[in-house]
Amino acid sequence: MSSLTDPLLLIIVALLALTLGSFLNVVIARLPVMLSRQWTREAHQTLALVPPTHERYNLLLPRSHCPTCDTAIAWHDNLPLVGYFKRGGRCAQCRSPISARYPLVEAASLVLVLWIVWHHGLTVSALALSLACLTLLALAVIDVRTLLLPDVLTLPLLWGGLVYQLIDHPDRLAESVIGVVAGYGIAWGFYWCFRLTTGREGLGRGDFKLLAALGAWCGWQALPLILVLSATTGAVIGILMQLAIPRLRGAPMPFGPFLSAAGMLLLLGGDRVIELYHHLIGLSSI
Ligand SMILES: [Zn+2]
Repeated sequence: MSSLTDPLLLIIVALLALTLGSFLNVVIARLPVMLSRQWTREAHQTLALVPPTHERYNLLLPRSHCPTCDTAIAWHDNLPLVGYFKRGGRCAQCRSPISARYPLVEAASLVLVLWIVWHHGLTVSALALSLACLTLLALAVIDVRTLLLPDVLTLPLLWGGLVYQLIDHPDRLAESVIGVVAGYGIAWGFYWCFRLTTGREGLGRGDFKLLAALGAWCGWQALPLILVLSATTGAVIGILMQLAIPRLRGAPMPFGPFLSAAGMLLLLGGDRVIELYHHLIGLSSI
């Protein structure tokens, strides 16, 4: 069924997935800081004020370091999964704890890529789906940490979805384009209905683009299922978290992780998930 039955290929794909997961951690940690610095710099330039310092800060520089003691992390302590457990989840220098987010993102990347390559083989389709799912994972974690869904990730995801359909499923391109328009339009409509009736923002503008991107990858038919799944899980988890953690009551909650999770389920499960959904609601097919 899959080329992953070859142990050597399995190891190569797993190492590649872990490396991508490690890179994803860098994107998750640094992209919001890079954007924040860019906005500050642009605001200062627009207002003709003295610009802030131009310390090099990007996805490559400075080297990975402990946020507490600033010590650079040695390459062998920075290996995906292995480095974290080798250090017992703590900085080798000052012993302060390091977030479990790092191994969790790496493990999730490993599972996602292995699942996709197992079902699609070593194909362009598997590469495209892996990149889409890893981007959704990065967006979900960034939204949890910062309540941001950066355009620099949502827009390439959207265009990538259209190109993927054009190359892999040209017969579904129309469904994909309608999915983009409908996804954006539904989220935009909900945002304004909620805002005009309650005076508050129920969705962030990044959610519009994320739902449009999911429409590109999954087609318009998947949008009702994505909305039902994300709204239901979002409501249940939101209520449980507010009951468990009182300081979260009234605090804004990210919706991106629930949209991303529902989108990933559709991308990983393919048409089987939509068929199951139609079966459950009593439709034979659309
Ligand atoms: Zn340290």
